[in-house]
Amino acid sequence: MKNEPVWFESVKDKKRFNSLKKSINVNVAVIGGGIVGVSSAYFLSKKFKVALIEKNHIGTGDSGYSTAFLTRTPDASAGQIAKKYGQKFLNELYEGTGKAQKELFKIIKSNKIKCDFVNCSSYYLTYKKDKSFEKEWDYIKQADKNTEFIGYDRKLGIKFADAIRFKNEGKFDIRKYLLGLVSKLEIDVFEETNVVSIENKDKIIIKTENGTIKADKVIVAVGNPSSLINLKLVEPILSYVLALECKVPLSDDIFWDTFEPYYYYRKVNDKLMLVGGCDNQKFDDKAYDKLEKFAHEKFGKFKIKNKWSGTQFKTKDNIPYIFEHKKNIFVATGFNGSGLVFGTLTGMIMNDFCLGKKNKYSHLFSLKRFK
Ligand SMILES: Cc1cc2nc3c(=O)[nH]c(=O)nc-3n(C[C@H](O)[C@H](O)[C@H](O)COP(=O)(O)OP(=O)(O)OC[C@H]3O[C@@H](n4cnc5c(N)ncnc54)[C@H](O)[C@@H]3O)c2cc1C
Repeated sequence: MKNEPVWFESVKDKKRFNSLKKSINVNVAVIGGGIVGVSSAYFLSKKFKVALIEKNHIGTGDSGYSTAFLTRTPDASAGQIAKKYGQKFLNELYEGTGKAQKELFKIIKSNKIKCDFVNCSSYYLTYKKDKSFEKEWDYIKQADKNTEFIGYDRKLGIKFADAIRFKNEGKFDIRKYLLGLVSKLEIDVFEETNVVSIENKDKIIIKTENGTIKADKVIVAVGNPSSLINLKLVEPILSYVLALECKVPLSDDIFWDTFEPYYYYRKVNDKLMLVGGCDNQKFDDKAYDKLEKFAHEKFGKFKIKNKWSGTQFKTKDNIPYIFEHKKNIFVATGFNGSGLVFGTLTGMIMNDFCLGKKNKYSHLFSLKRFK
């Protein structure tokens, strides 16, 4: 059994770009080579000279540890969001992620990125009839018209009572996507380059261990930015995944359930599937046993091929923050278990921030939404 995500087998981890060893000048420095940083670099590279700086290698952070569901649903209860901020806020949130999802699918197609992309549905399901689930549907159906409420359907390959189907979702191989996209960009990429400080002077001064970057603007896309911007915005949550070798019963869709914490699962191919969940705050090896028990109950016999865990970062209300921290210093964090489509949305918002354009959705991710 391997202790690494299956995506590290399809695209091996190695250093592909030089480290920064001198001083350079750019328009925009993007710190962090995960989905958020790479997506930001993608949009910004059309108008600006961009440097992407990664302390390890591209796609080795949490993005590379994800199960690569391309869902537009935020990792938060629709009912709770609507009750706290109103149905209009929820509708705008789904509208924004819906647009970003379309853009992501377009990026894959127009850049011809070979990343095993599958256009599918996602199913948020409950194993027994549940009134609160039906209530959740009341909020979701107003926010996202591309959905339906369904009863059990044996074609999906899992027993359930009811489900909310989100049509036109997707899944892919995240490392094939990230490394494929980066290889197409005309930007400077530096790996094994750890940013140690960001200072706001005439220009933004970004210090790394062996070189300095002077930039007009900086995007901080490092997962948890607390060490670079001295603000505590998020809490870490660990999530666990097993890759199971078996005759996969599931359809080609993506699934998650109503347990708290929820389980999530998908097929990779006819002989391999992923089951994740058992989220908690402190690493616990027993989480894998719990996951295995759940998988046996739902899917029968299998052999465990890989197991891994990664950290998600969660805000107080489970909605990300994407904001200008200080003049020309932009930060994105708190994507919880839904960072991939949100990563594309962040790239679109960061691009507008840097161009000085108003973005229709940025108010949803402002720190001011609590006031
Ligand atoms: C087990 C698991 C399953 C998941 N499944 C899904 C899923 O199916 N769908 C989904 O949408 N989301 C999923 N998520 C959530 C998703 O992975 C994250 O929300 C998303 O990857 C966050 O992207 P990011 O770019 O912010 O972070 P990362 O991918 O972690 O990228 C941040 C990068 O910044 C670099 N960095 C950090 N500090 C510095 C520094 N000082 N200098 C330079 N570089 C630095 C890191 O090395 C890292 O590469 C899952 C998460 C986990 C853990």
